[in-house]
Amino acid sequence: MNGFVGTAAFQGLGGGVRDVVEPATGEVLGSVGTADADDVRAAVTAAAAAQPGWAATAPAERGAILRRAAQFLERHSDDVVEWLVRESGSVPGKARYELGSVLDELWAAAALPTEPHGDLLPDSPGRLSFARRQPLGVVAVISPWNVPLLLGMRALAPALALGNAVVLKPDENTPFSGGRVTEEIFAAAGLPEDVLRVVPGGAEAGRALVAAEEVSMVAFTGSTSVGRLIGAEAGGALKRVSLELGGNNAFVVLDDADVDAAVSAGAFGSFFHQGQVCMAAGRHIVLASVAEEYVEKLAARAERLTAGDPWRERADLGPIINAAQLERVDRIVRETIAAGADLRAGGTHRGPFYRPTVLAGVKPDMPAVTEEIFGPVAPVLVAADEDEAVALANRTEYGLTAAVQTGSAERGLALAERLSTGIVHVNGHTIDDNAFVPFGGRGASGNGSRHGARQSWEEFTQWRWLTVRSSAVASAF
Ligand code: NAD
Repeated sequence: MNGFVGTAAFQGLGGGVRDVVEPATGEVLGSVGTADADDVRAAVTAAAAAQPGWAATAPAERGAILRRAAQFLERHSDDVVEWLVRESGSVPGKARYELGSVLDELWAAAALPTEPHGDLLPDSPGRLSFARRQPLGVVAVISPWNVPLLLGMRALAPALALGNAVVLKPDENTPFSGGRVTEEIFAAAGLPEDVLRVVPGGAEAGRALVAAEEVSMVAFTGSTSVGRLIGAEAGGALKRVSLELGGNNAFVVLDDADVDAAVSAGAFGSFFHQGQVCMAAGRHIVLASVAEEYVEKLAARAERLTAGDPWRERADLGPIINAAQLERVDRIVRETIAAGADLRAGGTHRGPFYRPTVLAGVKPDMPAVTEEIFGPVAPVLVAADEDEAVALANRTEYGLTAAVQTGSAERGLALAERLSTGIVHVNGHTIDDNAFVPFGGRGASGNGSRHGARQSWEEFTQWRWLTVRSSAVASAF
């Protein structure tokens, strides 16, 4: 693990030092410090002091720094891909896809500072009236381990571009690929000191960050349970909060679908990155006349996929991130079988490598349907008709994304309109995101579709109305 990232990071913090472990092998990859509440407060104070100078930096220069960060990252892609593969258990294809998406985020964000950032407003003669977007101040970014580099970057790149300072707290499982890489590429790009601070640690560091007085906004990506706590805390302190939370996404297959294409998209939706994706297809809802063919082909495809160490062997799936997650996936599968579901593929694991699993005969109240699995499991429910498919799809508190497979774009669009999600793809995958779209969910999946290039203006700035006259005017008083 050579290269610019190093293997010892954030040493000397109050919370001590710990090992970072490769999930596929248990090998120690490096050592990392842990921020305590004092470290977090100090980082926020430093970021708050640096922010006005950064906001006053010429827009073209801010954009140039983001472009240099992208160029540095691109030059060091191989180092970063190794960290993503070994620290987060990604297969190389997923790591390269993530890296490409991060580059897009940086390039898209780099264009933001030089876009128009205000409106000239109608007013009476002699008064100039305009509205201007201004940065919020310090934005706290809290990210998860599953797509660690991208899920930090998609918030922090536009936040920085628009003149905010950022304090990033990566997940404890991925402090290098989720934190250290980001810190290093911006340092190499010439970002002024303290405009970006990284505070590694777990829930304690996260809580201290949300509570820190100088934080104006919290951009959180992670579980719904933690998102609820953060939303309550940030709301109480009147801070802006963006919540990108869990999902339990429906993959609907209509009776006129190309079943082979649907199986391919459905398998990708449930098994990509071991199912550890918020956009994973958590529920396959298939119309009765094609259901048995779909299950048979999906199970055959699952049996052909390999799960193994993505760094040392060719594998379609890598390891589950840690023992607690592995146990959770296995429990949900066992409980669903015990409740009467039919295991058609997988259902076992070799060490941290969980086999792609297909469950048929699944009913709406079984655990594999009611819980976000976050593992490579495809539960298949059968619907009698489109109305039942829509009812099943909407029978969840989540509302992130959905996909509909059909031979008719019109039928797909009509059904898409009836789904309560922030995102829908007709004849596409549930797993689909890029830097140029408004990404986000509803209900328990989050508080809006707001990440994305144009939407970033709404997210990471606030309006200011300003008027000016050349001389004061007398009032009626
Ligand atoms: P998690 O909520 O346990 O952790 C996410 C982050 O929050 C980590 O950095 C963690 O250290 C921090 N954290 C934990 N407790 C905290 C607290 N009390 N206060 C402040 N910070 C705290 O989530 P996870 O298990 O790491 O990630 C998986 C979850 O994330 C899944 O539910 C998944 O669907 C969701 N996710 C959502 C999106 C999206 O865009 N909607 C993307 C990826 C993952």
